[in-house]
Amino acid sequence: MKMIDSHAHFAADTPQFYELMAKTGLRIINNCYDGNAHGMEGENSAKQKVRYKTITAARPDLFQWVTTFESAGFEDADFVEKTIAILEQDFADGALGVKMWKNVGMMLKRKNGEMLFLDEPLFDPIFEYITKCDKTLMIHTGEPWQHFQPLQKGTIHAQYMLTNKLDFINDPDIAEHDRYLQVFDNIMDKHPNMRVIGVHLGCMEHSLERMSQTLDKYPNFAMDTAGPSRSAGLAILDNDDVTAFLTKYQDRIMYGTDFLNELLLSQYSPEEQAEFIAMFDRYYNQVPSYYESTDLVMVKFVCTPGLGLPQDVLDKIFTTNVAKWYPGAFDN
Ligand SMILES: [Zn+2]
Repeated sequence: MKMIDSHAHFAADTPQFYELMAKTGLRIINNCYDGNAHGMEGENSAKQKVRYKTITAARPDLFQWVTTFESAGFEDADFVEKTIAILEQDFADGALGVKMWKNVGMMLKRKNGEMLFLDEPLFDPIFEYITKCDKTLMIHTGEPWQHFQPLQKGTIHAQYMLTNKLDFINDPDIAEHDRYLQVFDNIMDKHPNMRVIGVHLGCMEHSLERMSQTLDKYPNFAMDTAGPSRSAGLAILDNDDVTAFLTKYQDRIMYGTDFLNELLLSQYSPEEQAEFIAMFDRYYNQVPSYYESTDLVMVKFVCTPGLGLPQDVLDKIFTTNVAKWYPGAFDN
């Protein structure tokens, strides 16, 4: 199926991958995140920027990118000014928008020990600048609802919680789940003209009602489905309810994979490259089949009959919604 992956971290620069993309009609929007800072997982964003800019410059017909900024120096007097200067350069280099990550709200603290949140006035001039430049803000706030519950065997996120030793219930630094969702309301109340994407289904995929609430309240709000565990979150809900939800909000949902590597694909060994290529099927055939097909499908750990959405809805979710939410993407 022709597809734009609206949320990935995958700089695939090999002829073999280009060929796969051409054959399947796949295009990818990569986003940078503020990783490997103040104790957070991931890779430093400066390296990501170089990689995604490079791949976009090489193949703008196949790749686009979204930038980020480092929040670490947020208490410096010139933080806002410096950040806006960085964004100005990144927008000149073709960035479609800006991503803000879960490190804000879960890890990044003031010198006095208080946690910084994404909806604080500090960021308002940056959001004003993003709005003025007609760019899009991607927000990853908090984590799925399940992370805030006691670990339960057999649930979708149990593996991630165990691997990362998450224990939010006993972590005094972690707020209530709803505090993280409130970030959307607080930002969009102040910046109603800014396009905001709640990535990973806004970390609200446990509740169609909760997602609907935010979508109903803010017309400039949309969501992406990145990655497989978020589609799995939908897959454990009632198929008729999910179909009704995706049909109602068909202009506001975009498919994303969260497909991630930390080098250009050509920099990996041939064996590793082959492993990444093998993952192509999972991200671009297996998980999408949950939306497309009515057969029994496997979404992460969930086995379910697929939704079999109508073609016009699929086209929007998998391809055409991107033009509205990331203006300028693949215009060339
Ligand atoms: Zn991601």
